[in-house]
Amino acid sequence: MSRILNRRGFVQSVVGAGAATWAGSLAFGAADQAPAAPKGQNQPARRATGLPARGEFVVHNDHVLTMDPVLGDIPGGDVHVRNGEIAAVGKNLSAPGATVLDARRMIVLPGLVDTHWHMWTTFLRSMAGDKPEQGYFPMTTAYGQVMRPEDMYRSTRLAAAEAIYSGITTVNDECHNVRGHDYAVEDIRALQEAGLRARWSWGPYRGIPPNQPRDLADFEALHRDWTKYSNGGLISLGFIWSGIGAITSPASPERFELSRKEIETARRLGVPISLHTSAKENAPPGWIEALATEKFLGKDLLLIHVLGASPEEMKLVAAAGASISVSPGSELRIGYGLTKACAFDEAGINVCVSVDTTPLTGNAHMFGILKLLRNAENAKAFDEFKLTARRALEFGTIQGARALGIDHLTGSLTPGKRADLILVRTDSLNMGFITDAAHLLVEATEPANVDTVVVDGRILKRSGKLTALDPEQVIADAAAALDEVGKRLPRARS
Ligand SMILES: [Zn+2]
Repeated sequence: MSRILNRRGFVQSVVGAGAATWAGSLAFGAADQAPAAPKGQNQPARRATGLPARGEFVVHNDHVLTMDPVLGDIPGGDVHVRNGEIAAVGKNLSAPGATVLDARRMIVLPGLVDTHWHMWTTFLRSMAGDKPEQGYFPMTTAYGQVMRPEDMYRSTRLAAAEAIYSGITTVNDECHNVRGHDYAVEDIRALQEAGLRARWSWGPYRGIPPNQPRDLADFEALHRDWTKYSNGGLISLGFIWSGIGAITSPASPERFELSRKEIETARRLGVPISLHTSAKENAPPGWIEALATEKFLGKDLLLIHVLGASPEEMKLVAAAGASISVSPGSELRIGYGLTKACAFDEAGINVCVSVDTTPLTGNAHMFGILKLLRNAENAKAFDEFKLTARRALEFGTIQGARALGIDHLTGSLTPGKRADLILVRTDSLNMGFITDAAHLLVEATEPANVDTVVVDGRILKRSGKLTALDPEQVIADAAAALDEVGKRLPRARS
């Protein structure tokens, strides 16, 4: 009871009357298009002042987890970063002229890699309610339908700030509320200003009718002009595919043709594809089998959730070289079932992890997600040793990079790769000192312990503080956007 009261109290204090009426409005449907902005409302958020320059520095005397199978761990090691690249990793490195970052009692590791996150939903944090009509899907649909491009920017910027704060250096921003070209541009802008490495995946929009064709011409235009959006190569383009249903519950012929056209467009352009499929453990069987039958499986496919996959289907995914992104934070919360990460892993599939959506998960605490994943797997197996902390960290770093096709750039501290790394300080009361580094990271680390975050050689968090974004401003802008969006919700008829 107190949790519900707290949630309502929070909603009312931040977003006023708008949010309080959204659930009642669902029975009557929400407007398909956001109305034009009245004068004086939803003023543009303050723009970021720019990203810090890439310097040359040595992270000195820390406990290095390279996540590189050859280099391994280096207690008391150094990492030399120059021109955005990892120049060297080892002990007592000589780098005349480089700034020294004293990292005693810290653990340095590759930045965490998220592989599926609907970042635009972030300002709806913890607003998936306790009744079916207030659940994640109706709630995000109601709000999503009345959002404007600027709201996408503000919500995604909140997500990007949290990502950096929490030690995530790469995201796959699965943008499934692209209601028009400007929605895409504004959502991408938030990533550009934050300085994250990202895949930005072009999706449909909340409330799209099942047989409504998507604006593939606009997707092609984004692809053609991508250098405008790529932030110097930090952000790549992805495609969220609609899928074709299961063998036991196939898509209609009309829907199948639309989906075929979608995937053929993405593949013609060489754009990687993601697909939410067979999400629930008790889903009707045959979703992966349907993809295999139609020859849609491929290495360029990132499958999401897939808790309903049979052992035979896991073999099909492995043979195709596709990856699976698991999001135990949201899967457990929404009732999709227990994770199957170890089963996927044992089948030879590249397993990676994801935040998914903060209306369900509350936050984007990736160390916490890895902890949840490992504990759930051990519980399922009645085995203390089922999933090691180090294997869980691999899911959250190098395997995520592999799933996004960027493991040549990031995912391990290997000389020649781009400098995406984080420093975790261990001198706070929830850690104290270094015992077993991998176990500490998965079991004890909180976002507040992340001292420093480096993306592509730019220091985006230092001494626990963000350097390119102003958290107070980011939060205030997101709260103002939610207030405005809430006022746009159609009111319930009484
Ligand atoms: Zn999702």
